[in-house]
Amino acid sequence: MFDYSVFAKELKELEENGLLVRIKTLESPQGAWLTINGKKVLNMCSNNYLGFAFRDELKSAAIDAIKKWGVGPGAVRTIAGTLSVHDDLERELAEFKKVEATLVLQSGFNANQAVIPAITTAEDAILSDELNHASIIDGVRLSKAKRYVWKHRDAEDLEEKLKQAREEGARRLLVITDGVFSMDGDLAPLPEIVDKCEKYGAMLMVDDAHGEGVLGSHGRGIVDHFDLHGRVDIEVGTLSKAFGVVGGFVAGKKELIDYLKQKARPFLFSSSLSPAETGAALAAVRILQNDDTPVKKLWENARYFKEKMQAMGFDTGHSETPITPVMLYDAKLSSQFSVRLFEEGIFAQSIGYPTVPKGKARIRVMISAAHTKEDLDFALDKFEKVGRELGVLK
Ligand code: PMP
Repeated sequence: MFDYSVFAKELKELEENGLLVRIKTLESPQGAWLTINGKKVLNMCSNNYLGFAFRDELKSAAIDAIKKWGVGPGAVRTIAGTLSVHDDLERELAEFKKVEATLVLQSGFNANQAVIPAITTAEDAILSDELNHASIIDGVRLSKAKRYVWKHRDAEDLEEKLKQAREEGARRLLVITDGVFSMDGDLAPLPEIVDKCEKYGAMLMVDDAHGEGVLGSHGRGIVDHFDLHGRVDIEVGTLSKAFGVVGGFVAGKKELIDYLKQKARPFLFSSSLSPAETGAALAAVRILQNDDTPVKKLWENARYFKEKMQAMGFDTGHSETPITPVMLYDAKLSSQFSVRLFEEGIFAQSIGYPTVPKGKARIRVMISAAHTKEDLDFALDKFEKVGRELGVLK
């Protein structure tokens, strides 16, 4: 029998270091307020940026899709066929993103596993920002290409690595960056990265999971934000955050998408999104195409909360988006802060190593358009109370 005490020992160590994640069970939907263990708490953890996870139009679209298509896709699309609702979502998503085509996958995580190994071989080089998301890192690990890691948001260091990769004989160069870095909320310097990629003939891929529905006009993402349409080869996105549902996608040229349909393993070997998810995501795209009010509300809320937190004396890092890290650095303090907030009626998780580097623990506050001003004032009040109590605020 395997000796499971090795796992128990590691779990205990995590607990002792304030790094054990305790998953909460919700007794309510992902709204602005949640019920957890019978207690009503303000939700400051979810990526439901626009409040779409519980929006009536999306719920109705999911129910209609179930009535029309049932609950399961049958098998992988290359074998069982594509439901026309998948085609509708991919076409309308492409129109929304202003690209030629999109391919929808089961998650944003899977979208990175799909695209990176499919388009690179051992003859190629992949260049990745040092703080790229875990799903990019794992996607890169699945490729046989040589890896180069460049300093976070440093286009000059990227150029050095591009030169090096060329000198070392790489055939194809693939540069990958997060659009929005999910733990700090800072943006990739995309215009500079585009210039470097054009100079060295590299393909550029941006994972815009936290930019979709957040940045750019109507939430079209970071490419729209910087007006770089046509100059970024591959956009990876998620339907699991601002779009309020679950799923991921790749957006780009028709040839790229046609190629991925033949080569991308999560597309070829794993069943597609269910009809309900697909129908709901299509409804989300249609809302955003016609109405940018939720995106405007999200930004109004984010600015209000961040300004007030900074005025109180909290260190909120250098976020440029609604992701608001409340930097506490020490993992135990951060964990204690989160526990106290919960007791005060706020659900805001502490994030520590390995999700963020050691010594950079924080409470990551996720602002949503679903929050009212009263909700935010309630949160500010509680942050101030706990901040003083734990000596974070003087
Ligand atoms: N990429 C980035 C940058 C992310 O932050 C996330 C979600 N944490 C993902 C991909 C994965 O998205 P999904 O939850 O749809 O798998």
